[in-house]
Amino acid sequence: MRSLIAQDNGVSAALNLLDRDRRGLEEYFSEIGEKPFRASQLIQWIHQKAVTDFQQMTNISQALRDHLQQNTVIHLPEVVYDATSADGTRKWLLQLDDENRIETVYIPEDDRGTLCVSSQVGCALDCSFCSTGRRGFNRNLTTAEIISQVWLATYLLDEEKKPGRKVTNVVLMGMGEPLLNFDNVVRAVRIMMDDFAYGLSKRRVTISTAGVVPAIDRLGDLLDMRLAVSLHAPDDQLRNSLVPLNRKYPLQELMDACRRFIDKQNTRSRITFEYVLLDGVKDSDQHARALVKLVKGIPTLMNLIPFNPFADSGYRTSPRKRVERFNKILADAGITTVVRRTRGEDIDAACGQLVGKIEDKSRRHRRFEEPRIGMQT
Ligand code: SAH
Repeated sequence: MRSLIAQDNGVSAALNLLDRDRRGLEEYFSEIGEKPFRASQLIQWIHQKAVTDFQQMTNISQALRDHLQQNTVIHLPEVVYDATSADGTRKWLLQLDDENRIETVYIPEDDRGTLCVSSQVGCALDCSFCSTGRRGFNRNLTTAEIISQVWLATYLLDEEKKPGRKVTNVVLMGMGEPLLNFDNVVRAVRIMMDDFAYGLSKRRVTISTAGVVPAIDRLGDLLDMRLAVSLHAPDDQLRNSLVPLNRKYPLQELMDACRRFIDKQNTRSRITFEYVLLDGVKDSDQHARALVKLVKGIPTLMNLIPFNPFADSGYRTSPRKRVERFNKILADAGITTVVRRTRGEDIDAACGQLVGKIEDKSRRHRRFEEPRIGMQT
């Protein structure tokens, strides 16, 4: 596949300008004795106009263009797989500079186009129903690797020349736990929301977390944006078995952090709670009623997610009738709910199916490859 790597001057240690938000570029320009407003110009060329050839940046002086060309790069991952599903969902597999690969998914809907972005290579949290987690973990993505996903999707959708195929929303719901890669994620989100870059409003950028409580507090202090919490269970005992992170940050602490987050937001907003329905595990009427109690008093959007099966998951999708009944109990209690439609299944682009290529450092994947019975040592 054609490479979109541009302006690579071969100096591997050169500053990748995609790693900098506007503030970071301003610092760079003051270090080299340039005016800080150059940062706004540069960020517009890179992110709004998708220009990666310094020589085309016509409102920047020739001397500065040459300086940037000699000392910096605009370096993107290479697209090694690109598929569009029958329902319009498009998925990209991106080759990073090391052996790892990550996935990014574009999900078109009637009134918006949502890009699902990865934040880590793999995931260290090991939630029992998520296939990304089973493949283990390698490392955090850099700011450049996170924002490159938005850059590439915007560019490649634009090339389709079809109306409405645009990135209007970003969700950090791909591979990884965004709040365990805090600084790089925050920098990338700042670029997404910067009017000189992608200009997405705070309602259109969502971070999804399994519940890293101290990081939820830090995020609330820094940014006005949407938060989604992968709740998945109404009590600690069940949640401990599904989301191991719960042993560190149990439900009451998590709910309190959600309340604090909402209080810090400038405009009235809600927390999105994600709840994957697993047949016979957590889809009963009692579970629904316990969930109602748990979120009481928190402005809530409850996102019910049908389980996307994968090999050896050990779980089944809840029957449709069950999902409807579960949904009704919540709705009758006055909770706003949405049942997530599964998208892009034919290209393995659905939730929990993003696996990329992870050189697993946790060696967790081995546990699932070894024979479980009759194992001899
Ligand atoms: N670590 C973050 C970001 C990943 S988001 C988080 O936990 O929120 C991925 C979303 O997809 C989460 O809500 C997750 O619970 C959900 N998910 C994971 N595996 C799934 C599966 N097999 N079927 C449906 N949803 C799944």
